[in-house]
Amino acid sequence: ERPMYRNFRIVPNIIFGRGSFNQLDDVLKDRRVTADSWMVFVVDDVFTGKPLEGRFPLRGRDLLLWVNVDDEPKTRYIDELVARIRAYSPTAPAGIAGIGGGSAMDIAKAVSLMLNNPGSSADYQGWDLIKNPAVYHVAVPTLAGTGAEISRTTILTGPEKKLGINSDYTLYDQILLDPELLAGVPKNQWFYTGMDCYIHDVESLNGTFINEFSKAYGEKSRDLCREVFLDDSPAKDDKLMMASYFGGMSIAYSQVGACHALSYGLSYVLGIHHGVGCCIAFDQLEEIYPEGVQEFRQMMEKHDIPLPRNLTKDLDSASMEKMVTTALNLVPLWENCLGPDWANIMTRERAMELYKKM
Ligand code: NAD
Ligand code: ZN
Repeated sequence: ERPMYRNFRIVPNIIFGRGSFNQLDDVLKDRRVTADSWMVFVVDDVFTGKPLEGRFPLRGRDLLLWVNVDDEPKTRYIDELVARIRAYSPTAPAGIAGIGGGSAMDIAKAVSLMLNNPGSSADYQGWDLIKNPAVYHVAVPTLAGTGAEISRTTILTGPEKKLGINSDYTLYDQILLDPELLAGVPKNQWFYTGMDCYIHDVESLNGTFINEFSKAYGEKSRDLCREVFLDDSPAKDDKLMMASYFGGMSIAYSQVGACHALSYGLSYVLGIHHGVGCCIAFDQLEEIYPEGVQEFRQMMEKHDIPLPRNLTKDLDSASMEKMVTTALNLVPLWENCLGPDWANIMTRERAMELYKKM
């Protein structure tokens, strides 16, 4: 019997290059098919009053929607934003441009899906639950590492779970990668989000789901991360942007592993952001990823990056249990990491011990 291979959609249009942000206007122009076509710019509010704000190619009735990412995206917030867009105009926008890091890019993805699908975004957390194609959407990353620009998910925290809306419609129609936009990212954030990418590579390459497709992308992405974080390459912003893209391509056809599973627990119970949460978890996973963790510590030392510690020290046992449950519910991640027998290897007790050290 032959296995069933997944038939993944990928992002069809890509612009890469320094200064390419100036081409966003041209890209959107092709979508402004009628006189009253309009766009929504979903932008991380960190750019309010910054020079980039003056460069958004707003025209006519376009709506500039600032979004706040102090908390990672919640389903309630998505529903609110969709209601605001619907209240702004009875006709749907011709396109959405998401400008920012993984959070803003995920918000823009979710909004473009929900404008064409009824109900709450929480109804669609899961796999392939979306019925109707999204509004045309473009991503412009300003922070590199998550791979959100090319993934088929938008990760949301809902009333019951933290889980992505995974579907072929979630994927961006266009991405515009301008490495100049990474200038100005605070150093620790640059590192934590960059490590998200490095950890995608390690978890993909060391997983049991690995194949030559994922390996081709994962190895190149890991090499680029080494040039960025160990060699201080002069083109480091360009390289990190490509590393993020390749890291995302690698996990698309494999899976992440233990570190991501544990970081979901930290995020769900303690609200810890994805990048730093992955770093906190990874630092405890030497037994599972010995070489990766060692190299990660080298990178951390080279850039003098602090890691928050003792986060679970005063946590009550119900919260600790909830973290363990959240992590262990991510079955495909554990299967990839430890194989079909994973549940006997990563027991609740062992996961609890790991959390106690974080
Ligand atoms: P982020 O988008 O949460 O941003 C982190 C901080 O950096 C924010 O304060 C933001 O305002 C700021 N920032 C962004 N760009 C900046 C710039 N150019 N200059 C100055 N400050 C800037 O961080 P992230 O690590 O990119 O994304 C994390 C999010 O991505 C999480 O919500 C996570 O769930 C999601 N994620 C999604 C996927 C996916 O495939 N969809 C994968 C991994 C992570
Ligand atoms: Zn990640």
